[in-house]
Amino acid sequence: MTRFILPAPKTPSVEIFESDARFAVRRIFCVGRNYAEHAREMGADPDREPPFFFTKPADAVVDDAAYPPYPPQTQNLHHEAELVVAIGVGGAKIAPDQALNHVWGYATGNDLTRRDLQAAAKEKRRPWDMSKGFDQSAACGALHPVSAIGHPVRGRITAHVDGDLRQDGDIGDLIWPVADVIAYLSNSVTLATGDLIYTGTPAGVGPIGRGESCTVAIDGLSSVTTTYV
Ligand code: MN
Repeated sequence: MTRFILPAPKTPSVEIFESDARFAVRRIFCVGRNYAEHAREMGADPDREPPFFFTKPADAVVDDAAYPPYPPQTQNLHHEAELVVAIGVGGAKIAPDQALNHVWGYATGNDLTRRDLQAAAKEKRRPWDMSKGFDQSAACGALHPVSAIGHPVRGRITAHVDGDLRQDGDIGDLIWPVADVIAYLSNSVTLATGDLIYTGTPAGVGPIGRGESCTVAIDGLSSVTTTYV
């Protein structure tokens, strides 16, 4: 048994639909530009790119109904409505036709982004970490196990800010579906139990103001609402 000199950090986790148990989070991976219309709105060509990935710290996860502080060093906090995949069984070099067997469940997520810092990072060819991986930047609704809902392949995905519809897409329009995302990612890193994958956002990303609430919803999954105070 390892003896730590100071108390070990708390294990980050997300809630599970209709359960008292929680899902311990190991790492958070995110896919960039996985819907064609969003790739175009960000000035990229959706037809040319294999999926690319960035990360957030595991302790950036935030439950539904939380009130995170409006994050520092930004005037342009953006919502990104996303389908979140929770890995139950790890692996490396996973074949696409086996990939869904590694999924434990699905949730709605919000990949919060300090868009002004991201634009500056892109301009200067610097890393995205501070624009994407800040505190409480990964809102995640309750996880629904595959054993209950199977693998959602289509369904409306929306983001509302203070009740106004801002993003309205369908998870069936993912350029790289979940199985391909897992296969690609597992060629770069060894996936393990507890990894979350945010699969990318449809068009319509935009700002959340101070004091405003953002709700992300996907058909068949619990929604996630966060309010920035
Ligand atoms: Mn995103």
